Amino acid sequence: MASHIVGYPRMGPKRELKFALESFWDKKSSAEDLQKVAADLRSSIWKQMAEAGIKYIPSNTFSYYDQVLDTTAMLGAVPDRYVWNGGEIGFDIYFSMARGNATLPAMEMTKWFDTNYHFIVPELGPNTKFSYASHKAVSEYKEAKALGIDTVPVLVGPVSYLLLSKPAKGVEKGFVPLSLLDKILPVYTEVIAELKAAGAKWIQFDEPTLVKDLDSHQLQAFTHAYSALESSLSGLNVLIETYFADVPAAAYKTITSLKAVTGLGFDLIRGEKTLDLIKSAGFPANKYLFAGVVDGRNIWAIDLASSLGTLKELETIVGKDKLVVSTSCSLQHTAVDLVNETKLDDEIKSWLAFAAQKVVEVNALAKALAGHKDEAFFTANAAAQASRKSSPRVNNAEVQKAAAALKGSDHRRVTNVSSRLEAQQKKLNLPLLPTTTIGSFPQTIELRRLRREYKANKISEEVYVKGIKEEIAQVVKLQEELDIDVLVHGEPERNDMVEYFGEQLSGFAFTVNGWVQSYGSRCVKPPIIYGDVSRPKAMTVFWSSMAQSMTSRPMKGMLTGPVTILNWSFVRNDQPRFETCYQIALAIKDEVEDLEAAGITVIQIDEAALREGLPLRKSEEAFYLDWAVHSFRITNCGVKDTTQIHTHMCYSNFNDIIHSIIDMDADVITIENSRSDEKLLSVFREGVKYGAGIGPGVYDIHSPRIPSTEEISDRIKKMLAVLETNILWVNPDCGLKTRKYAEVKPALSAMVAAAKQLRAEL
Ligand code: GLN
Ligand code: ZN
Repeated sequence: MASHIVGYPRMGPKRELKFALESFWDKKSSAEDLQKVAADLRSSIWKQMAEAGIKYIPSNTFSYYDQVLDTTAMLGAVPDRYVWNGGEIGFDIYFSMARGNATLPAMEMTKWFDTNYHFIVPELGPNTKFSYASHKAVSEYKEAKALGIDTVPVLVGPVSYLLLSKPAKGVEKGFVPLSLLDKILPVYTEVIAELKAAGAKWIQFDEPTLVKDLDSHQLQAFTHAYSALESSLSGLNVLIETYFADVPAAAYKTITSLKAVTGLGFDLIRGEKTLDLIKSAGFPANKYLFAGVVDGRNIWAIDLASSLGTLKELETIVGKDKLVVSTSCSLQHTAVDLVNETKLDDEIKSWLAFAAQKVVEVNALAKALAGHKDEAFFTANAAAQASRKSSPRVNNAEVQKAAAALKGSDHRRVTNVSSRLEAQQKKLNLPLLPTTTIGSFPQTIELRRLRREYKANKISEEVYVKGIKEEIAQVVKLQEELDIDVLVHGEPERNDMVEYFGEQLSGFAFTVNGWVQSYGSRCVKPPIIYGDVSRPKAMTVFWSSMAQSMTSRPMKGMLTGPVTILNWSFVRNDQPRFETCYQIALAIKDEVEDLEAAGITVIQIDEAALREGLPLRKSEEAFYLDWAVHSFRITNCGVKDTTQIHTHMCYSNFNDIIHSIIDMDADVITIENSRSDEKLLSVFREGVKYGAGIGPGVYDIHSPRIPSTEEISDRIKKMLAVLETNILWVNPDCGLKTRKYAEVKPALSAMVAAAKQLRAEL
């Protein structure tokens, strides 16, 4: 009985790769230093899997930045602007593509399916030349072999690579990257030949696009590609790996018919229907089924007994010798190793499995199937599962009852948005084109130190509160001097917009080293939602009312919305996501109402990550949007007409979800806009119809560049051309936390000047 791991985190248990990369980029260490750290990480990962007993151990899942960029390098598909003169691609060109250099911007980055990992989007055109320009896959295979470990080299499959690419700028309309398939296959042929020559017996092609809604032409490309590669692949076992969702029936039919392919990998965690598909459609007799039963997207230990049941069912379909136990996807989307968690208590720890523990789970299942069940391991797992089910820390009957009572109800504010805005205006008395900001102000080194020292109990609460109060006072004073209309307190007490709330809600736990790569050297440490969520006491009222007491202008209360808290956490898998979301919504609702009672009349509920949660398949979108938007409305359906609810989203691509955005029924929505004008206009027209306030960011906060007054007023004029004057707000794209005061002051001053200038003209 065989075991397999789709892929493994690269960063290292203590983010060793991150620090090595950043030190290299800062020129504090050499290329050799970086290569050494990388080689050590790879070898420890391979050895760890070998020692655990894994049969099919992946190689080439390591990356200095991103596996799609690695593929771009392998194919020599370097965009012209990076001036590459051929030859093997080194760090210089590679990191220029990833991060830009002194003169050139980086290539675009986008989210890898519905994960929080971002890949570098290949830019291709009809004239892109391809050549074998990075031998990384082969050298990693050989490197492992030299350590005595025969691995399965992993490549991003040719079809997914092209489907994830975008047409380069300036390429004629109608060009589709997939049309380049026959041009990239020769490079794949060369790589395959070299891997074969080096002794590889298996090769894994990751083709995750197979879980998306593909048309027949796109599906046909898989048949074409793998038929074209058939002769070069002969003599090798070939695994096509899919993950993140069900494989649609048509895609299943396509890949099970591929002659060159000997193994197919499926995500049996997220792909809930795939098991039924395998049962009903059958599985080709001569192929291996790689059953992804260990969840690569989460941090929960699996229920071994139940997974074993699934595997036994599969065994009757595909046969004992053709079933391989695997992970649902690469483990790069989960945390690395539970042994480094010093702060979690033993009970919670017994419920968890990070990547290192998942490797052990895969192996335990494979052994059990082969008749060598580790009884002690299974018993301990069953006990942990039982304790998780019945733990009072997980279950809160009151919360469950309150959340259950929400169903079937609409939770909508009674008065319509235009009447509400009128009532609010009477109270707020704002000028046309009111100015505001998104929430955070620059976080200085001193401020970060203050928070850190308080957390480490190095300073007293009194000293901490005094420090934060001073910071708020300064931010308030600055905004008054700038003459901003609706103020914020600046969020100096927050390290992170989700963690801050998670730490104050019950049902959340925090790791010390539970890092997951987000992009390049950047990692995030998502909170773990393990139990029913409730709010023991008010979370933001103290700071918000303190800030309000410092000014006669309206002070926005600042909250993170339920959908964003959910989407940026590791979520419990023992109840549907929407139920957890409803629970968080109720907790935020309590906070909204407490803020209102404390005299806060404008409350912003950020839903930065609402779009991120969109399912990969169109057919599932409506359901998600429905409960996500419902959750948002729950938070504020109980406020008075005169309380103004804002929401903020860090993107502008609303075209396909505009009806859901309208359905959120916020009074004002501020969005990112400065990097994407045209797309937004059509959405704005809808906005006019619904009449709520809209604040499309008037300048980009992601760059240190300071915009001029004219530039901002030009932008506002463009917006006014499509929008009614009375609904437009003037604000930056997003929070100012990562900027410096030297940038923020002149930028906001230009923003206010532009708004005033235009007011005078209106
Ligand atoms: N209120 C948050 C801030 O200003 C919003 C951040 C975000 O949207 N990512 O920092
Ligand atoms: Zn934002």
